[in-house]
Parts: sequence; C-alpha cells; structure tokens
Amino acid sequence: MSLYNVSREALIGSATLGFAFVAGYYIGKRRSRVSSMDIFKSHSGGKDNPLMQYVINHSMREHPALKKLRLRTMEDPLNFIMVACEQSQLMANLARLIRAKKAIEIGVYTGYNTLSIALVLPEDGKMVACDVNETFTNIGKPFWKEAGAENKIDLRIQPALKTLDDLLAAGEAETFDFIFIDADKANYNNYYEKSLLLLRKGGIIAIDNVLWSGKVVNPAEDDVDTQAIDKLNKKLHRDVRINLSMLTVGDGLTLAFKL
Ligand code: CA
Repeated sequence: MSLYNVSREALIGSATLGFAFVAGYYIGKRRSRVSSMDIFKSHSGGKDNPLMQYVINHSMREHPALKKLRLRTMEDPLNFIMVACEQSQLMANLARLIRAKKAIEIGVYTGYNTLSIALVLPEDGKMVACDVNETFTNIGKPFWKEAGAENKIDLRIQPALKTLDDLLAAGEAETFDFIFIDADKANYNNYYEKSLLLLRKGGIIAIDNVLWSGKVVNPAEDDVDTQAIDKLNKKLHRDVRINLSMLTVGDGLTLAFKL
C-alpha cells in the first residue's frame, strides 16, 4: 500500500474542520454548551489546537484514495459527522494487529472508515457496511474502487439491525473480528448486543461518540441520545463479557475486547 505524509492543509479536514464546524454550530446556537465543547476540542483537534495538529502531522499515514475521499467528504454539509481520521487510523491499526478478516461497520456515511478498515483486511476479507442512505455511500464508492478495495466491501442499504439479524440467521455468529458502531444513538445498545453475538472471542467492538461532545457528564432529561450513550457507557463498565478502554480520541471511542 502506498503511503504518504498528509499535508497540514489537507488535514484541515475530518479532524479539524469537522470539529470546528460542530463547535461553531453549538457556540452559535447554544452558548450554554461552549464549556463542554471546549473539553471536546481539547482532545479532538482543531486548527486552533497546535498540539493536536502536531499529533496529526506526525502520525497520519493516509492512503491516496482515503485522502481524496476525505477531501470529497469535506464538500458535504454534514462533513462533521465523518470519523476523525486519526481515530480511523487507530482502528485500522487495531484491526491489522488482531489480523482481522471479517469486519462490520454500522453507520457508513461516505465510507472513509469503511475503506480505511477494508484496506487492512486480506484480499479474501469482508467488510459488511451497514447504512440506510445510499446518497452518502455513493460518494465513497468510486474511492473504494480506486483503492482496489470494493470487492471486500459488502454494502447493505437497509436498517443495520436487519443486516445484523441477517448475519446471525446466516450462521455467522462469532465469526467477525472487528465491528465499528457509529449510527443512531438510540439503538446503540441493540447494535452492541447483536455485535457481541457476531464477534469472535478476542475480537474488538469500537463504539464512536461515547463522550457526545462532553454531554455525557451531565445528560439533560429530554436528551434521549445522550442518555442512551451514557446508559451504554455505564453498562459496559460493568459488563463481564468484555475488557474495556474508553479513549478521548475524536468524540470519545470505547474499545470492547470480547472475552
Ligand atoms: Ca460518529
């Protein structure tokens, strides 16, 4: 795989503009959330965060097709929901470390992380990519092809719970090595439970947005998304079926290692 260093300008992207956009949105719309966004920004990067920029400048190795997809994604108004590129690289390294062959992604968006993980799977590996929005996944497809990874990506456009049930019904329980959960937060617990069934022992479930811009510290009563995330965070802390790490990368990333 051809690698190259990502320029500073190019990285005003997933890890930078996206978060700046989110921060700006909340600062503009809801001043009361500035403090939690500051916590968020302190570990998630931004063009006003030289330390985070240093981390990115000195660690990112991005496949050329990934770079192009990231820049293309930045043209989309919803680009702030794209996974942080340094987080995606971490997950790809973990998948490579455990010699992952079968992966699932729940929540694809434009498929940056889908490709990032697919690139580290062997030629006969499989990435089951779950999403309901073909408009976004169509943005990523040409780049999957350009990277020569499209044959590894099994895109299923339907509710992810249906796809997970289909995989279980097809006898694929305990056959997956790596699963990334990054879709609607209200269903996080359902995604987690089905993922745990599909994961082999020693496999990894990565869960995105577990800090939810810092809002998990004090979830509002009417904020169902924050409550769902907070509830799952508390459950995983006690879950004896896994080992656990919660990282402050991106918007918070939990790694659950199946025992
Ligand atoms: Ca996310």
